[in-house]
Amino acid sequence: MVRTRFAPSPTGYLHIGGLRTALYAFALAKHGNGKFILRIEDTDQKREVPGAREKLQDILHNFGLQWDEYYIQSERAQTNVYKQAAQHLVDKGLAYPDEGAVRLKIPKDEKIAYHDFALKKTISWATNDIPEAVLLKSDGFPTYHLAVVVDDHEMNISHVLRAAEWIPSTPIHLLLYKYFGFKTPEIGHLTDILDPEGGKLSKRKGNVSVEEFISKGYLPEAILNFVILLGWAPKDNRELFTLDEFVTAFDPAGLQKSNPVLNSKKLDWFNGHYIRAKSDTELLQLIKPYLPQITLEIIPLIKDRLTTLSQARDLAGFFFTRPAPQKGLNKEYLQAAAEAIEKGQDLAEMAKNKNWKLGDFFMTLRLAICGSKITPPLTESMLILGKEETLTRLKNSLNFPS
Ligand code: GLU
Repeated sequence: MVRTRFAPSPTGYLHIGGLRTALYAFALAKHGNGKFILRIEDTDQKREVPGAREKLQDILHNFGLQWDEYYIQSERAQTNVYKQAAQHLVDKGLAYPDEGAVRLKIPKDEKIAYHDFALKKTISWATNDIPEAVLLKSDGFPTYHLAVVVDDHEMNISHVLRAAEWIPSTPIHLLLYKYFGFKTPEIGHLTDILDPEGGKLSKRKGNVSVEEFISKGYLPEAILNFVILLGWAPKDNRELFTLDEFVTAFDPAGLQKSNPVLNSKKLDWFNGHYIRAKSDTELLQLIKPYLPQITLEIIPLIKDRLTTLSQARDLAGFFFTRPAPQKGLNKEYLQAAAEAIEKGQDLAEMAKNKNWKLGDFFMTLRLAICGSKITPPLTESMLILGKEETLTRLKNSLNFPS
């Protein structure tokens, strides 16, 4: 039975790389009809951020990454499992007390190795290079190394999948598996996600937190699809995946060895795709947090133009907020348009009769009515605004001293 886990530390926010780890671990388990476990690794209590645990759960839930079992290490610590494990190693002479803490003993001149199922290579260390890591801190809490090994064993984890930054910790874990006489799970590390400007993605450079992407108006489906392809590739060139489709297609052989670069254009493309796949009523609800006044009739006018949900504010805000009068617009155009509208005449026909360039004419109206050059189709927008409001806006620019 395949059993995987996602083991975040609740330190504040979910990194896009963390979501990817969770997603791949979920797919690995579910592809094999196995179990996906969520384990909160909060034994470093100084780093814990209040509310972070709940937020993490909300996000995973939102993305459909539903866990089958749930554990919190600080709660498990109450049962003394980690203390007993550390004591067991001390008793066997494989660890030693060090001023209230317990440290791992390292054998001299040996080699330790494992085969990484994600990176598809064997990685080895000389034991002389491995530090005598602390296993139990003087506050009685285990360190990550001890807790992760004890828990992965007790929770019957078959495959450990985690970020590449944990590779240096792996030899410590391998020794612990050996010392305890535990079976070593399959271990795989995921490549680093690179920032387009170079280097690893980092909080400082932005673009890393899943919440940030959500609040900018990216849909979970789009973020998920984007993250699916940030380090994994299907056998064909398929690009569109729902979570279920990904689970079906997932094969660890598709995990890539080179570091992917976060390409936000690609994310925009996915987001546009998933926005257009929504019904108008669904989209209405999704846009409301960004533009509460939005109405159903406006949705078809902006649907094809949205890259993110938050752009609805820029594209459709003018329906609800009258733009400031525009300086320097062609007053002849504005005057004639206002008269034509009052008389119920066709604007294009009127402008053609006067031999005006239609592009210039309508751009002038667009600026006066919508306050910007990039807007939904003008005629439909005027219909939604209504005759009175349209005229008011035209006259505001007309009467504005140039
Ligand atoms: N608690 C570690 C983290 O925050 C988990 C590493 C692992 O999966 O072993 O990423």
